[in-house]
Amino acid sequence: MTTDTPPTLLWLRRDLRLADHPGWHRALVAGGPVIPVFLRDGLVDSIGAAPKWRLRESLADLTARLRARGSDLVLRTGDALTCLRALAAETGAKRVVWSRLYDPRAIARDSAIKAALKEDGLEVESVNASLLFEPWTVETKTGGFYKVFTPFWKAVRASGLAEPLAEPGDLAAPQSWPASERLEGWRLGGAMGRGAEIVARFALVGETAARDRLETFIADRAAAYKVERDRTDLPATSKLAENLTHGEISPLTVWHAGRAAMERLTGAGVDGAETFVQEVVWREFSYHLLYHTPQIESENWRGDWDAFPWAGDSEAAERWRRGMTGVPMVDAGMREMYVTGTMHNRVRMLVASFLTKHLLTHWKIGEAWFRDCLIDWDVAANAMGWQWAAGSGPDATPYFRVFNPATQAEKFDPRSAYRDRWLAEGKANPHPDALAYFAAVPRAWGLDPAAPPPEPIIGLAEGRARALDAYNQHRLAS
Ligand code: FAD
Repeated sequence: MTTDTPPTLLWLRRDLRLADHPGWHRALVAGGPVIPVFLRDGLVDSIGAAPKWRLRESLADLTARLRARGSDLVLRTGDALTCLRALAAETGAKRVVWSRLYDPRAIARDSAIKAALKEDGLEVESVNASLLFEPWTVETKTGGFYKVFTPFWKAVRASGLAEPLAEPGDLAAPQSWPASERLEGWRLGGAMGRGAEIVARFALVGETAARDRLETFIADRAAAYKVERDRTDLPATSKLAENLTHGEISPLTVWHAGRAAMERLTGAGVDGAETFVQEVVWREFSYHLLYHTPQIESENWRGDWDAFPWAGDSEAAERWRRGMTGVPMVDAGMREMYVTGTMHNRVRMLVASFLTKHLLTHWKIGEAWFRDCLIDWDVAANAMGWQWAAGSGPDATPYFRVFNPATQAEKFDPRSAYRDRWLAEGKANPHPDALAYFAAVPRAWGLDPAAPPPEPIIGLAEGRARALDAYNQHRLAS
């Protein structure tokens, strides 16, 4: 490193790692010091309570890792352009590097910042650190984008992707650091209330934990993933979503681990590993959709659903949020999310179907609650998941396919272990995780584990019939 080469600002966002990080490599290439920064701007501030708490954990972990390697993470609050300009002026930096994001607000912000910084005479470089296939790199034969997953998967499944990049050796720390705010002062966990301490028991934070999690999954569970992934009572899935969403591990690292397992495993194990890779590509597909149809985040993807008589917020929706619908599989899922910050994929589909169909409630109500509660909240996957479940999205489950929570429970929780883990009422010896729910929720909810189980909010057959009736009338009307 030559000391007279000006520093580079490395603006970190959802790429909180060192390994397989193209931004770090591009920042180091100039030969000067590298100053990693994280900016708390309006976009960061707009995220929900649990994701924000989880972000804090991730930033704390990364800061510790960087400090152990002689570097650091500079924290600033404010408008991102103003912060970057100030940091450039204070440090003499002439380059700014960041990893691209793909949601409409981030794209608008980043494009404006890029133009303004270039105008200031700075060099700006953005790289891909978060996706296997950036949305504009995969096209249908007619040059459009994919609206259905299977052809998207067929188009990308055999791709020969580059190997992940190694963690950089020297992090090129500057001689002196610009002032930084203190992470504790940001109080990113503030909105979590007493739930934070409980969710913390279930989170596995940071790059090292993510890598260990991937290795354990590949070694112990990938082979059986295809047959067991829907079982809510088994630890069959990777749980990597909370790490992927903060960029603590790259999807490329996960892809290669999955592909290597496909080569190594035999028999049904090959299908298990391939199904896992395919699920990781669902994440890619969600970004493909978000990029090409940004309205998926906030509007019905299919416009004809705008006339559907969804209910708005209501007492029923509140009972759903509180895990008090009286439908055991639904309540178990909602409580799992409140306690762990995550929910089994099968149960996400089920609770979303129950809200939008049995309770005829707008998917936006559920989407917003997930956005507030999930530590693996992901802007694209959450929007796609909700619109899929509601029937208003691309490649969605048809509205007339109403999940039956009772038969789903028989199939995917055959011994009731999942429900027993999350429901306390009416049990002589409730599971500690079921009791943890009552310690995590706001006291104002007035919930009591010793109370009798809640009465069902609606009969399953009645709710199904009502949903189908509304659907048929809507079809007739449109
Ligand atoms: P695994 O089964 O181990 O899968 C590996 C990885 O593939 C996941 O970590 C995830 O990154 C990706 N993946 C798997 N399934 C999907 C999927 N259906 N869509 C997109 N990516 C997928 N996922 C999120 O990461 N964040 C969300 O906010 C989110 N909200 C959802 C909301 C609803 C209503 C539904 C139905 C699904 C949602 N999903 C979301 C998708 C899925 O439920 C989770 O990715 C999965 O449960 C995470 O568990 P895992 O890491 O053990 O996944």
